[in-house]
Amino acid sequence: MQNFAFHNPTKIVFGKGTVSQLGGLVAPFGKTVLLVYGSGSIKRTGLYDEVADQLRSVGAKVVELSGIEPNPRLTSVRRGIELCRAEGVDFVLAVGGGSVLDAAKAIAAGARYDGDVWDFFMHKAKIADALPMGSVLTLSATGSEMNGNAVISNWETKQKRSFGSIHTYPRFSVLDPTLTFSVPRDQTVNGVVDIMSHVFEQYFSLTTDVPLQERLCESILLTVIENAEKALEKPDDYAARANLMLCGTMALNGGLISVGMANDWASHGIEHEISAIYDIPHGAGLSIVFPNWMRYVYESRIDRFVQYAERVWGIERGGKSDEDMALAGINATRAFFTRIGAPATLSFYDIGEEHLDVMAREAVLFGPIGSFKKLNEKDVKEILTLAL
Ligand code: NAP
Ligand code: FE
Repeated sequence: MQNFAFHNPTKIVFGKGTVSQLGGLVAPFGKTVLLVYGSGSIKRTGLYDEVADQLRSVGAKVVELSGIEPNPRLTSVRRGIELCRAEGVDFVLAVGGGSVLDAAKAIAAGARYDGDVWDFFMHKAKIADALPMGSVLTLSATGSEMNGNAVISNWETKQKRSFGSIHTYPRFSVLDPTLTFSVPRDQTVNGVVDIMSHVFEQYFSLTTDVPLQERLCESILLTVIENAEKALEKPDDYAARANLMLCGTMALNGGLISVGMANDWASHGIEHEISAIYDIPHGAGLSIVFPNWMRYVYESRIDRFVQYAERVWGIERGGKSDEDMALAGINATRAFFTRIGAPATLSFYDIGEEHLDVMAREAVLFGPIGSFKKLNEKDVKEILTLAL
């Protein structure tokens, strides 16, 4: 196990009806609130009215930024920063899925920075301060509700890039599983794949002697697998939605499940390059990339893949070789993704070979990616080719 420091400052308020606590959670941060949301789901479900009532009840002045896109765009972030400056915003409140939360974080950091917010994403500047932000989450997927990361797309340069900072952890996140009842089937599937992928990025590690962290990862995977189809069959299954929500939060909250371990994150890097050009949903891109990444790298540490097959998919050893076990676990992953309706190939989105070179080059813009197996441009291109 490696040395580590772990600090997660986000307060989680979890459960049915917890939006009723929102006013009290926001009030300590000041009077002027930037309310950030997407393209209408919160109006259709009535959540918008509930949030507005809560903010009114504590006398907040509300400035609105709506229309945050899935795969949120830099242009929206810049609009939010301008609003913060013009209106003297004290607090940024995100109500929505990961895209809305990520945009709110970038706005919060950009509002306290004199230069261009894109500098943070291009490693030209480090976040030294941010407006306080908080969230009401409506979709289980990203873990953005309890981490300091944001992923933003620059549509002009066709780049999708991320930052992570201690200053952009939400001060609080309200997690009411009933708010996810209305999440459509495809977004529920994308969320399931994203949650599992966050665990994979940490679980497939070269770090040894970390049995607790391994089991934390495996328990999240098992819990997601047990609850995904229940939520898909019955979208208002409270227990299933609650378990998926907690899994999403635990899977990526500053690395709790992988403290002291090297993480990988190559598959996320590769997926971001696909989304950057084709604007496909993040979870769908991960479903296409991850099993192919697994096939490409499993020999780096086959015992981890054997354990994954045994513990997560219940595959019995019988007389199987390590290699057969590893491949059986990878095939079970693909079969599960397919069973819940997630795509397996780039051709699903009519994506061919046209831009594979650009994607491979951009993926390694800041050097080789991954740690389970370090990937250079040629490796990324091979994985993308496997995914065609
Ligand atoms: P999302 O992009 O936030 O939302 C997807 C869609 O779901 C939107 O159209 C949204 O509609 C709708 N939606 C959300 N909640 C709903 C509800 N309760 N009922 C009905 N519709 C609902 O999806 P996401 O998967 O949470 O976020 C994806 C983004 O997060 C990607 O850009 C990805 O790269 C990034 N990401 C971030 C992290 C991180 O750590 N920060 C990690 C992984 C991925 P409306 O717009 O109308 O609300
Ligand atoms: Fe993700």
